[in-house]
Amino acid sequence: MAPAIVWFRNDLRLDDNPALMAARSGAPLVALYVLDDDSAGAWRMGGASRWWLHHSLSSLAADLARLGVPLILRRGRAELAIEAVVAETGAGAVYWNRVYDPRAMRRDSEIKANLRGCGLTVESFNGSLLFEPAHMRNRQGETFKVFSPFWRACLAAGGPPAPLPAPTKLNAAPAPASDRLDDWGLLPKEPDWARGLRDAWKPGEASARARLSDFAKIRVLDYKNARDCIAGQGASRLSPHLHFVEISPRRVWAEIIQSAGEAGLPYLRELGWREFFHHLLVTNPEMPERALDRRFDGFPWRDDPSALEAWRRGRTGYPLVDAAMRELWLTGFMHNRARMVAASFLVKHLLLPWQEGARWFWDTLVDADLANNSGNWQWVAGCGADAAPYFRVFNPVLQGEKFDPDGAYVRRFVPELAGLESRWIHRPWEAPAHVLAAAGVTLGETYPFPIVDHAAARARALAAFEEMRASG
Ligand code: FAD
Repeated sequence: MAPAIVWFRNDLRLDDNPALMAARSGAPLVALYVLDDDSAGAWRMGGASRWWLHHSLSSLAADLARLGVPLILRRGRAELAIEAVVAETGAGAVYWNRVYDPRAMRRDSEIKANLRGCGLTVESFNGSLLFEPAHMRNRQGETFKVFSPFWRACLAAGGPPAPLPAPTKLNAAPAPASDRLDDWGLLPKEPDWARGLRDAWKPGEASARARLSDFAKIRVLDYKNARDCIAGQGASRLSPHLHFVEISPRRVWAEIIQSAGEAGLPYLRELGWREFFHHLLVTNPEMPERALDRRFDGFPWRDDPSALEAWRRGRTGYPLVDAAMRELWLTGFMHNRARMVAASFLVKHLLLPWQEGARWFWDTLVDADLANNSGNWQWVAGCGADAAPYFRVFNPVLQGEKFDPDGAYVRRFVPELAGLESRWIHRPWEAPAHVLAAAGVTLGETYPFPIVDHAAARARALAAFEEMRASG
């Protein structure tokens, strides 16, 4: 019998994998992953994602090997790599789970048409979202532009389909040649900046399942109250696992409902935002580059490389923003509340384009995701669909005092401020000289003065918004 190829992409798992289940029902299997940097254009995977991918592929290869199937690695344009493996193995079918990025979707349709034209069986599946974006339409048959009705429609659909079990037996086809993962150079070498990532994360399906079980047991019940505590463990930290879809959102849904019932809904609603941003990306392919609110095409952004660099390096003089940016650099992650404050600081306090921030996040986040990243940046900048209003400007001091009241987060990531009393930790420039001296802080030397004054920056942002409105 001619072999069937399963083309793995952002579905690096065995559990609830519809393409794998379809492919294994009969024919011997070829498991293939293609690193296609050429088709990614400007959105070639960033450094932190490449680190994650290396370990995730290594974990998937080990899981497949336990079932007797080698993971074949190829590099280059996906269409050419697949054609080559079809020719080398004599495969009669190709199966994959869809990636909901408009560029990939266009290319995949062509691959599908070409392979079918050559007489192969080709099927694709939804393995990464709760609901198929093409099915999500409002009563007028239009796509959703606002989150709440979108989420209501998702819930009214009665929840997603139940997840499929992982296969316990696979039948391997004779294996074609494979690249060596180590030769792909996905890991940083000189310098090796990944130590913080290694300390913070363990990529792969088993780790994703363990993290979910741990969260679903008890923490999910307190999620609504605890998620905003920046230094705490209130959120699930599943985002990189969900980006690479080492665990399917359907599996997350099923496990959360099973352990928490309706009390799990506040958590599932966040998965709803993930769905919503993917839905928006599919219907607005330009979302990563261009504001969905077209008035922002004429927004008077500033050009200020040194302010941008201070933001990237966590040297703005606002402790919460700096802790957030340093957490990102060190661990490849940033708490959601901290993301909102740091992003708002870039676009509103510094008046720098949201696209600059999205690019930096793209390179440094282990969960960098085209839909979630650009959707959230547009939300914060006030230029997206269903976005925070532009005139709402986060105050980084008050946000710090509310969501990191004892300064534990700042102390951890901005150690030069660790000796400051909680009362001053989010506003060191207001601390009396003797307090700073006792804590070993010399502003302008050991830690910067604020690079902008909050009130003046807020007024400047609102004026820029008015200028845009007047000219639009
Ligand atoms: P939890 O609170 O445990 O939420 C569970 C899951 O729901 C997350 O893993 C994630 O998949 C999803 N989710 C939660 N919040 C959001 C949200 N606001 N939007 C979309 N999905 C959400 N998330 C990414 O996955 N990739 C990104 O590139 C990304 N960039 C962001 C950029 C900015 C400026 C902001 C403000 C947010 C961004 N987010 C991004 C959303 C959010 O910050 C992270 O998903 C969340 O912090 C991940 O932590 P968690 O897994 O503990 O989340």
